[in-house]
Amino acid sequence: MIRSRFAPSPSGALHFGSLVAALGSYLDARSRQGEWLVRIEDVDLGRTVPGAADDILATLEAFGFTWDGPVVWQSQRLDRYAEVLDALRRDGLAYGCACSRKEIADAARLLAVDGGPVYPGICRSGLASGRAVRAWRMRVPDEALSFEDRVQGTVDQVLARDVGDFVLQRADGYFAYQLAVVIDDADQGISDVVRGADLLDSTPRQIWLQRCLGYATPRYAHLPVVSNAAGEKLSKQTRAPALDVSQASAHLVDALDFLGQVPPAELARAGIGEVWAWALANWRFDAIPRVRAMVRS
Ligand code: GLU
Repeated sequence: MIRSRFAPSPSGALHFGSLVAALGSYLDARSRQGEWLVRIEDVDLGRTVPGAADDILATLEAFGFTWDGPVVWQSQRLDRYAEVLDALRRDGLAYGCACSRKEIADAARLLAVDGGPVYPGICRSGLASGRAVRAWRMRVPDEALSFEDRVQGTVDQVLARDVGDFVLQRADGYFAYQLAVVIDDADQGISDVVRGADLLDSTPRQIWLQRCLGYATPRYAHLPVVSNAAGEKLSKQTRAPALDVSQASAHLVDALDFLGQVPPAELARAGIGEVWAWALANWRFDAIPRVRAMVRS
């Protein structure tokens, strides 16, 4: 049974980039009679905008998406994340870290895939005396981890070199996305993760956590992200415009086109029922461009 999910962070309204991720995961699941779940990733309350989640759900509904089961909210699952973090600590896989951002920046030598410093391992074998735990980190191996992405092909990372021991619970007490997403995907029985390629570099961390926790690894497909002409990913930070619900058919047709499908031009003026019927009947996963980012034409 295929079970897929769309997991927006409620830091703003749904924009064209998130519509592409929603549509790609939806059509991949529904065209194979699979289930499609929605999860609100509001684990980082500092970035959560009040009302944004309800707005995202209303927009999805207005665009004609239908989901299975109740919407899951990460902010309701903190006890579960704490329980799993405890287990990782007990097994010696997670350790307490006393370092401030500045201490890390001063001691780091390697740059991580996200451009930040690779944690230099200061607290890896225990805290120096008089130091208190601020955050919890996951120990990572110094060996290649590789997986096959359905769109992007083979992805290889050496976690110790490319990422470093990464944070599971931050100094402000928030659980990290990496931990929450792995627990949620496993607890919800997700077989297929289809999402934007901005998360491709996070995937080896998630697979490492799955292996340490004895969870199955889902299949992954990372779709090209929508970028503007300056090469920046569409997001609230780059002022991506919110979608106009009265233009739902036209937006869906644009998103289909972005994903390499070839919708007839007149579909943009049809009702959304007709757009969905065309999309489900004609969806070709193999037509998705095998690149990490594209400018919207
Ligand atoms: N919440 C993440 C985002 O909006 C998506 C996470 C995922 O699909 O794994 O970028």
